[in-house]
Order: sequence, then C-alpha cells, then structure tokens
Amino acid sequence: MTFKAEYIWIDGTEPTAKLRSKTKIITDAPAGLDALPIWGFDGSSTNQAEGSSSDCVLKPVFSCPDPIRGGDDILVLCEVLDTDMTPHPTNTRAALAELSERFAAQEPIFGIEQEYTFFKGARPLGFPEGGFPAAQGGYYCGVGSDEIFGRDVVEAHLENCLKAGLGISGINAEVMPGQWEFQVGPLSPLEVSDQLWVARWLLYRTAEDFGVSATLDPKPVKGDWNGAGAHTNFSTKAMREGYDAIITACESLGEGSKPMDHVKNYGAGIDDRLTGLHETAPWNEYSYGVSDRGASVRIPWQVEKDGKGYIEDRRPNANVDPYVVTRLLVDTCCTALEK
Ligand code: ADP
Ligand code: MN
Ligand code: MN
Ligand code: MN
Ligand code: MN
Repeated sequence: MTFKAEYIWIDGTEPTAKLRSKTKIITDAPAGLDALPIWGFDGSSTNQAEGSSSDCVLKPVFSCPDPIRGGDDILVLCEVLDTDMTPHPTNTRAALAELSERFAAQEPIFGIEQEYTFFKGARPLGFPEGGFPAAQGGYYCGVGSDEIFGRDVVEAHLENCLKAGLGISGINAEVMPGQWEFQVGPLSPLEVSDQLWVARWLLYRTAEDFGVSATLDPKPVKGDWNGAGAHTNFSTKAMREGYDAIITACESLGEGSKPMDHVKNYGAGIDDRLTGLHETAPWNEYSYGVSDRGASVRIPWQVEKDGKGYIEDRRPNANVDPYVVTRLLVDTCCTALEK
C-alpha cells in the first residue's frame, strides 16, 4: 500500500511554539503507528537547532486518518528528538509521558476547552474594516448572520475532527465575534494533549481552504473584549468518587508557590488575559469556588450537588501547551491526593 503521511510536529518558536508539517510518501508499509518510520527535518529553520548541526528527529507518537486527503492517507503527530534519540529541549511531551506513568493508578483524565479567534487579514472575522462591531452580549452561542462569523469553517473543522477519530466533545460560538470554542476529552493526559495538537493543526488547515486564519492569541483584541482561554477540566478516580478529593485538589493548587508555578506556564501573555475582568480571576491571586466564573478554579454546581466529579482550571490561555498544563495539574493534584 502507498499512502501520504502528514508528519506534524511542534517547533521552537518563542514565546509560543507553532505547528509544522510535511508530507512523507510511504510505500509498501502498513499504516500502524509502530510501522511508521522516524524522519528528520532542518531544525535551523524552526528555532530548534544551529545551522552547523541542524538535524532533528521526528518520532511518530500518534496517528489517525487524514480527513482532508481522505483515502488511506494519515496524519502523524511526532515528538522531536535529538540525533542521539533523547528528547529535544522543546519536547514537552516526554516529561508528561514519564509523569503520567507515575500517577497512572489515580486514572487522571482531562477535557480541554480550546477557544480561538478567526482573522480575515488584520481584523477578527466579523469586525468591520474601520471600527468595531456592536459590543459583546449577543454573540455567545448566538445564531444569525449579524452574530455569527465563520460557522462554515467551524462545521468543516468539526467534521474533520470526527472523521479523524479525535475525541472532540462539542463546539460553541464565543463571547467576541469571530471567536469560537471546541472541546477535546475527557481523555488521559497524553491522549487529550496529542489530540488537541492534532485538532489545532486541523483547525489551521481547514480554515486555510476558506481563506481565513485562526489564532490562539489569548487577547486578540485589547480593551473590553473577552480573551481566549483553554479551560482545563480535570479529575482523578478519587475525585469522580467523592467530594473530599475535589477539595484536596482545589486546595493543593493554592499551596505555597503553586499558583505562580502554574500560571507562569499557562501560556505567554497570561497577565493580559487574567485581569480579573471578562470572567477571569487576577493572574496573581488564587481562588476556587462553586459555580464561580470569576475564580481561578471552578467547581461546577452539578459536582457540588452530586458530591463528586471534576474541577475546571479556568486560568490556562488558549495558547497553552497541553503537555505542560496536564503535567502540572497531575503533578500538583495527584501528589496531594496520594498523601
Ligand atoms: P463549560 O461549561 O465550562 O463551557 P464545556 O462543556 O465547554 O464546559 O467543557 C467541559 C469539559 O469537561 C468537556 O470537555 C468534558 O468532556 C470535560 N469533562 C466532563 N467530565 C469530566 C471529568 N470527570 N473529568 C475531566 N473532564 C471532564
Ligand atoms: Mn530540503
Ligand atoms: Mn466551554
Ligand atoms: Mn468558553
Ligand atoms: Mn469552561
């Protein structure tokens, strides 16, 4: 069998890594992950190596059907290794793989709400050429061409994610015109992170065909417009079975240096978004509460009512690295729950 494999990886762009991909024609090989060959790229073009020693290695870690090309073609998410086969400094997946193995017995799972914004040229989709649209209010989960911008792209992206077999669990229009959300999960830490990166790639690739771009910029329009986040919903087996574990997890995130350890790794520009306005808590003050969309961490009302379930960390930016946010949450909460 001959097929096209789109090898996707995360580069070294500062302060926020970008996705890259290129196509490998594979002949006479099965499409299973284990049979996919390692490959390489020019790290000096992706901020991952010096020109004098530029080779980086791509190691397949997740593959799925390619919904864009169809047929037998596949998407292949890779981690980046140095030529000695150790994780490259930009490879944040390796540390998550190690940690999630350590805490596997607690069965941590995540659902991540990925917010993003479409742009047409230099303006968010739906923003008039000069000036601003009507103030926020009617756009969130709206309907109608005065409120909704880009639904054709969103529907195509959803369809592509489903065809790829990703664990996407929903979509909605957001508070600012041209701003949307999709959710991935609940899944294990590595699964949710791998699949979120592939869903992001599919978002950019799908939008390309519509002549619009999508951005994970956490504050795409300054001023009185909502930013874009990546609310991270999290539970362990104990949290899914009882309320004490929910409270232990919430408390652990407030201890000592934990609030800063987390927030400084929750995406570049976090202080622009976590202002205390627009349904956020200030970046430098940790809080948690039931139903509280102004808290750092929210316990959904249903969770309080049932006395079990999950918590929502509302702080991560849209541009957060899912390998990092899931690692930090597992590390902090599972360490506390282990005691
Ligand atoms: P919101 O009300 O904050 O907009 P969403 O419906 O957008 O919430 O997202 C909630 C996310 O939480 C979904 O991705 C869902 O899969 C996930 N989720 C539900 N139950 C759990 C759980 N027990 N553990 C982790 N995540 C969960
Ligand atoms: Mn070349
Ligand atoms: Mn949501
Ligand atoms: Mn949202
Ligand atoms: Mn949310």
